[in-house]
Amino acid sequence: MTPTIPSPTYDDVLAAAERIAPYAHRTPVLRSRLIDEQVGAQVVFKCENFQRMGAFKFRGAFNALSQLTGEQRRAGVVAYSSGNHAQAIALSARLLDVPATIVMPHDAPAAKVAATKGYGGRVVSYDRYTEDREEIGRELAAERGLTLIPPYDHPHVIAGQGTAAKELFDEVGALDALFVPLGGGGLLSGTALSAGALSPDCRLYGVEPQAGNDGQESLRQGRIVHIDTPQTIADGAQTQHLGTHTFEIIRRAVTGVRTATDAALVDAMGTFASVMKIVVEPTGCLGLAAVRDMADELRGKRVGVIISGGNIDLARFAELLSSA
Ligand SMILES: *Cc1c(COP(=O)(O)O)cnc(C)c1O
Repeated sequence: MTPTIPSPTYDDVLAAAERIAPYAHRTPVLRSRLIDEQVGAQVVFKCENFQRMGAFKFRGAFNALSQLTGEQRRAGVVAYSSGNHAQAIALSARLLDVPATIVMPHDAPAAKVAATKGYGGRVVSYDRYTEDREEIGRELAAERGLTLIPPYDHPHVIAGQGTAAKELFDEVGALDALFVPLGGGGLLSGTALSAGALSPDCRLYGVEPQAGNDGQESLRQGRIVHIDTPQTIADGAQTQHLGTHTFEIIRRAVTGVRTATDAALVDAMGTFASVMKIVVEPTGCLGLAAVRDMADELRGKRVGVIISGGNIDLARFAELLSSA
């Protein structure tokens, strides 16, 4: 958390959209007649699986890095992540010519380590059972003067993530409901800023894995609830708690938080592959799973779903689908 930067507003999303425009993809919005029929609603999918590095996280990472001072850029940045945030920081850093150090668990999937290195990131590995990655990140930041870029609880990251929903509303107009995968809440809180400005009557739902419903509990209890790392195939949403900035925005703006089981995620992943011909990672399937679950309430409505990412190893993809 960075106390010196104020909580973001929709103006910050607009500024982020200008900053990232020359570098980020404007991702497609897809529809499926078959899914519309199954759900009984008009469903539009914002496909961030087609974003650079394969997930929306490029938006927030690039927006944050492009606002560093010259001195901060020269010294470099550090991030801790085994997943999409690592690749987003490594790619953004390369584009902006900033040295990037990524703290990753020693047993992170080889493909993710290779992708991070491929974007020019320097990987520092640690033992996830005996060492604390936040501490390692903070130490590196202190020792080498690096700027730590957190994966979700940062105003510039939140504003960047909000640009995906801005593009969606710009393209399709107002919606009755919008479903957004929820981990630490960067994507959901950024989306809330755009929805508030562009579709104020839209009901906004975060969707998290059933095994890790800390977001749902946090809304219910009115405080940030911490949990152990949940066991779920939705690895992009295995966070243990919401952030200070993200929770403040989410509690004000979000209609509710829904959950999805791993089985429902695999089912949605199969639908995306067979019906829409797209590869979506399990975390990216949270929205469709929740829409199917709420079909009765959504009948006849205009419904948006953010597909947050598509990074999954093909062998793992095949394994999950064949076990269904
Ligand atoms: C990080 C991530 C999420 C969760 O985003 P938060 O901003 O942490 O809530 C969802 N889906 C994918 C694919 C991700 O990489």
